[in-house]
Amino acid sequence: MHGMTKREFQITDPAEITRILDTAKVLRLGLAVDNEPYIVPMNYGYTMEDGKLTLYLHSAVRGKKLDMLRKNPNVFFELDCDHVPFEGKVPCQYGLAYSSVMGKAKAVFVEDVEEKMTAMSVLMKTQIGREFTFNERLVSIVAVIRLDVSEFTAKHRPIPENLR
Ligand SMILES: Cc1cc2nc3c(=O)[nH]c(=O)nc-3n(C[C@H](O)[C@H](O)[C@H](O)COP(=O)(O)OP(=O)(O)OC[C@H]3O[C@@H](n4cnc5c(N)ncnc54)[C@H](O)[C@@H]3O)c2cc1C
Repeated sequence: MHGMTKREFQITDPAEITRILDTAKVLRLGLAVDNEPYIVPMNYGYTMEDGKLTLYLHSAVRGKKLDMLRKNPNVFFELDCDHVPFEGKVPCQYGLAYSSVMGKAKAVFVEDVEEKMTAMSVLMKTQIGREFTFNERLVSIVAVIRLDVSEFTAKHRPIPENLR
């Protein structure tokens, strides 16, 4: 794996990583089939157990991203938050503070009804911050995709000290 170019920005604190995952709300899912890349923004839910990150996505049951996932379940994802623009005296001193997480995962279509209901509750908890209960009928009309994350990194770009 390549290291980060500016290691001072890497985040390893689990609490800070889960704060980013709670805050971002939208992830970009990167797919590729036969040398054709595709990115789709999506809402997500997550669980973090003993440092193992799992993401859940939901979708209509048809479409390009699902066709691509069936052909190649190996994906990359990115999510970010804490956007704060800052100014400088010259253009190259302008910038944007941010926090982000990105990583590699294998996508699995969740077919088991119990797991689908749990996944949708996790998704709503991440998105809305509340527990919702789903029944079989509600989950039957959506596709649920689990991303088993094999590696991820988190990064924070702060506002420069002299501007705080
Ligand atoms: C903030 C945000 C959150 C979203 N959350 C979800 C979610 O949780 N679940 C979900 O299923 N979808 C979500 N969407 C919509 C998602 O980005 C896709 O539009 C949708 O999933 C259909 O994708 P598809 O590959 O099936 O496209 P198809 O319906 O098969 O469309 C094919 C073509 O439409 C175009 N297209 C598709 N999506 C977009 C787009 N977003 N913007 C511009 N052009 C597009 C592309 O050119 C693509 O080749 C979200 C979008 C945004 C912006």
